[in-house]
Amino acid sequence: MTGNENFDVVVVGGGAAGLSGAMVLGRSRRRVLVIDAGEPRNAPADHAHNYLGREGVPPLELLADGRAEVAAYGVELANDRVTAVTRTEHGFAVVTGSGREVAARRVLVTAGVVDELPDVPGLAERWGRDVLHCPYCHGWEVRDQAIAVLATSPMAGHQGLLFRQLTDDVVIVVADGVELSPTDLERMAAIGVPIEHGTPREVVTDGDRLVGLRLADGAVLEREAIVVASRPQVRADFLSPLGVEPQQVEMGGTPVGSVIAVDPVGATSVPGLYAAGNTTDISMTLIGSAAHGNRVGAFINADLAAEDADRAADDRRAEMFEQPAWEERYSGERVWSGNVNPQLEVEASSLASGRALDVGCGEGADTVWLAGRGWSVTALDFAVAALEKTAAHAAEAGVGDRVTTLQADVRTWQPGEERWDLVSSQFMHLPDGGMVDLTRRLGSAVAPGGTLLVVGHHPEDLATGLRHGHRSFLFTPESLIPALEDGEWEIEVCDVRSRTAVHPQAGEVTLRDSVLRARRLG
Ligand SMILES: Cc1cc2nc3c(=O)[nH]c(=O)nc-3n(C[C@H](O)[C@H](O)[C@H](O)COP(=O)(O)OP(=O)(O)OC[C@H]3O[C@@H](n4cnc5c(N)ncnc54)[C@H](O)[C@@H]3O)c2cc1C
Repeated sequence: MTGNENFDVVVVGGGAAGLSGAMVLGRSRRRVLVIDAGEPRNAPADHAHNYLGREGVPPLELLADGRAEVAAYGVELANDRVTAVTRTEHGFAVVTGSGREVAARRVLVTAGVVDELPDVPGLAERWGRDVLHCPYCHGWEVRDQAIAVLATSPMAGHQGLLFRQLTDDVVIVVADGVELSPTDLERMAAIGVPIEHGTPREVVTDGDRLVGLRLADGAVLEREAIVVASRPQVRADFLSPLGVEPQQVEMGGTPVGSVIAVDPVGATSVPGLYAAGNTTDISMTLIGSAAHGNRVGAFINADLAAEDADRAADDRRAEMFEQPAWEERYSGERVWSGNVNPQLEVEASSLASGRALDVGCGEGADTVWLAGRGWSVTALDFAVAALEKTAAHAAEAGVGDRVTTLQADVRTWQPGEERWDLVSSQFMHLPDGGMVDLTRRLGSAVAPGGTLLVVGHHPEDLATGLRHGHRSFLFTPESLIPALEDGEWEIEVCDVRSRTAVHPQAGEVTLRDSVLRARRLG
């Protein structure tokens, strides 16, 4: 068994649907493998019809051309049979009859169907030649001929109508146990289609030439073509490890075949597993299957592109929380206005000064404001560049003697024994609910009777156009309350406040600040 081959997409089945899916994916520079067992549904027919631009092409010639076309875009093709598709951590493992095992982020199933034929001796041998099912695939080729429609389901009335359009000489032979509806019987009588009753005994031939049908009474009905309704059964046994089972298709209460159920983009019930062509719809002809494969291939490409971009965004977002990004940010020109944050000004103006902790002090505007009002401030940040700027700004403002800097990462920082009368966190954001844990630790740093003030961007700010980040790290004030143990805190403010700001790209926007202020009971 070979392993460790990784593909964006493995296509199971290289018929019209599979190759058309591979085409759009190959041209989108996806790494694609098409595994094909080489038995397209129309292989028994000499020619394929109704495929615009390739009218009358031999079926295998059409596919050989398609294989060459997709190979030109880097699609790999394998003559093999898929025996199992299983789930893996990052997608799927696809196993073949030859013992090959490959990994795929997505799988496109286009393995088509197997036509189950009525059980009449001699019928199967002539399938696709003069035993036919579809007026559009090969009706023109039997125009004006003597045709028998073998009715093994009530659907035969439909076939009688369509083949009568092509020839004056149609007889319907109704198998035992089948009843045509009164409407069909009336229609057939009106358009000159006689009805015979009883399951035929066999197909009669002379050498390789079709002679006709031996009817139930032993008489031979001479015919040049026989029309049957096959029951196409989806090839999907290799999907059982994923729990995907064929779904029966019925018409007028009669079972007519089976498919794999998909949604409008070709997605099955298993995320990442797609299907197209006859696998999903037994009535699709070649051109319809090709179009469906092409369409589903495009949706798979979009799905992969979105996944790639989301992963890149996750990586980029994760970097935003690391020290190097902030060192770089604070290494150049001033980033912020130098003004105190508005909610700190509102909430702390009336507080008597004491010891304050400014969490994530940045360039130190809040630290300098607090120190200017008599507070003795510990300015905490993990960026050395931020602390240097804070110290410099405090010195410029003449309050350097009331400012101490502390380099620490708030994601892991523990206050130890030290306590502050005011702990202020202004617009510190952590991903995935991390603010609740931080609020709890910051709360433990507040002295009895002291104040905890946590302010941040409300999730509604995502709609302002300021791109304040990602939903996972914006927070509501209520979401932080579980961090404050019952009985130890008085919640003084739990509020969402609007304010106006001017943004170079977005213009004047209304921002919403989440404000939580709590007093530790003494
Ligand atoms: C006799 C006959 C004549 C027809 N003539 C016409 C016609 O003239 N015009 C027309 O428009 N339509 C015609 N059709 C219908 C046409 O064949 C289908 O619409 C078309 O083939 C469906 O394309 P597909 O790609 O979904 O499936 P298919 O063409 O059946 O391709 C499926 C491919 O998957 C492969 N496969 C299956 N299982 C596996 C596996 N486990 N691992 C790897 N590969 C696998 C098969 O070998 C096959 O190559 C005809 C049908 C029949 C029965």
